[in-house]
Formats: sequence, structure tokens, C-alpha cells
Amino acid sequence: MTATIIDGKAIGAELRGKIATEVERLKHAHGVTPAIAVLLIGADPASEVYVRSKTKAVAAAGMRAFDCKLSAGIGEAELLAEIARLNADPAVHGILVQLPLPAQINPHKVIAAIDPDKDVDGFHPLNAGRLARGLPGLVPCTPLACVILAKTVRPSFVGLEAVVIGRSNIVGKPVAQLMLMEDTTVTIAHLETRNLPDVCRRGDVLIVAAGAPELVRGDWVKPGAIVIDVGINRVPGADGKSRIVGDVAFEEVRKVAGAITPVPGGVGPMTITCLLLNTLRAACTLNGLPAPKI
Ligand code: NAD
Repeated sequence: MTATIIDGKAIGAELRGKIATEVERLKHAHGVTPAIAVLLIGADPASEVYVRSKTKAVAAAGMRAFDCKLSAGIGEAELLAEIARLNADPAVHGILVQLPLPAQINPHKVIAAIDPDKDVDGFHPLNAGRLARGLPGLVPCTPLACVILAKTVRPSFVGLEAVVIGRSNIVGKPVAQLMLMEDTTVTIAHLETRNLPDVCRRGDVLIVAAGAPELVRGDWVKPGAIVIDVGINRVPGADGKSRIVGDVAFEEVRKVAGAITPVPGGVGPMTITCLLLNTLRAACTLNGLPAPKI
């Protein structure tokens, strides 16, 4: 068997097209241009790359991006004041603070200061609580991307087993909650889990967010399973240059799985698409408009 490759780039591009159409409609029917403020503190090169690709995607969807570059030495109070200003600005619908933050700033305080209805990363404790309760709210982008990609292969997961490797607040826990809302039986595995290969083999859907290069081997996977690889790991390549691999040994697993996301080109591009979706949703909520039907 060779798995279907879940092409996150193509699926993301199609969804971005729908988002752009909805943005146009919002502009013309209601005079609202969805806008996101992206706060970058300091000059971390990786963060700069992420921010550039996010703002490019925002502009391509017809939305506005406000780039807020702040110095690495900014004080916590100053950053909180900037967030308060953005919270109060009706032209801003989404606020994203690029992590990690410099050591003098407490990220929990910063995330908690964002208006939950503008929290397009879905990291605010209120949104985490809404997700845990199954209430409407903004959902973290990467977990949302995982579920959207998995559902392109199989529209319903009712009664199936989902296994998630990783219990972080930004991926593992929220994706497990989303899979619970899909009526699967969810197992969350992590570094202390015993017999991890056996646990993985239970998964009709296996979502891996460990940050461990090629952790999941071919014989860990249930034949026909849907495998979603969240990992982004830079490892030395044969040519002396580095290359990016996921948390799944792709070549082995594709021979066993029913469907699999590649790295790169799977969850990554879809994550940015979900940021656009969240910004569109936030713009609708904040303007008292019904949620877009995407
Ligand atoms: P994290 O380090 O916060 O959490 C990793 C989790 O995996 C932990 O709960 C840990 O217990 C578990 N884990 C680690 N090694 C393990 C092992 N050997 N066996 C079992 N469990 C193990 O990481 P994170 O922020 O959740 O990110 C996970 C991965 O996803 C990273 O590679 C990160 O770069 C990637 N990521 C990708 C995107 C994207 O857009 N594609 C977004 C966020 C994170």
C-alpha cells in the first residue's frame, strides 16, 4: 500500500482562495477589511522569517497587516500598553505576538492581555477554556490545520481512535480536544508514555507533535491510518547542508498508512491559512456579523 499524500500546500491554497472571496464580500457588503497586527519583539532571524511569511499571506488574502516591530529591550509594561492600544483600535481584528519573547517579558502575561476576541493564535486562557468546554472561540492555528487536513481524507471520524503524541498547550492538548469534538476516542501520549509504538498502533488517526525527528517508524502505524505530522526538525543532510524532516519517518510510514502529510508541505502551509481564517472570523465577530461559511 502507498499512502495518499495530503498536500497541505494545495489544500491551503484552495482554502485561501475561499477566504479571499469572503474578505472581498466583507469589504463590499459591510466596509470591513479584516486586519491583523503582528508584533515582533527583537530581531530573531527565525521569527523574522515567520512574520514575513504571515504578513505576505495576509496581504495576498486581501486583508491588512500592521507590522509592529519593537526593540528587544522593550519593557513588559511598554509591551502591555501597546497591546492595550491594539485592543482598543476598531481597525484591528487580530493581534499576534510572535513567540519566543525576550527573557524580561512574561509570555503568559502578554497572552492574557490580548482581547480574547482578537486572539487569532487562540492561546488566551479564555479561548483555551472555551475549547475545553466545546464553546465557540478562536482555536489555535496548527491544531485546526491538523483536523482540516485529516478531514480532507475522511469527513467523519465518529467512533474511531485518535492518538496524539505531544501534550503542549499550542499543539498537543488543543488538537486532542478538537479530535474529542470529532467524537473520536482520544489518547494523548508524551515523553513518559510507556510502550509508545503499541499506543500509536491503536490510532486510526495519528497526530504527531513531538519535535523529535522521525520518531514514528513504519511498524508503529496501524495499516490504513491517517497520519498527520506536525514536526519541523532541522537535521544534517547527506550533502553537508541541513534539511527539514518531520516527526514521522515518511518513507517507511507512507508504505503502511492510508494517508500522510509530508514535511515540508503539509501542516506548515495550512497553519498560516488557519491564521487567515481566524482573522476573518474575528473580524466578523467583532463587527457583529455572522461567522463566514467556510
Ligand atoms: P513542545 O516541545 O512544546 O512539546 C513536545 C511534546 O512532545 C511534549 O509534550 C513531549 O512530552 C512530547 N515528546 C517529545 N519527545 C517525545 C518522544 N520522544 N516520545 C513521546 N513524546 C515526546 O513542542 P510543540 O510546540 O508542541 O511542537 C512540536 C513540534 O511541532 C515541533 O517540531 C515544532 O517545531 C512543530 N510545530 C509545527 C508547527 C507547524 O506550523 N507545522 C506549529 C507548531 C509546532
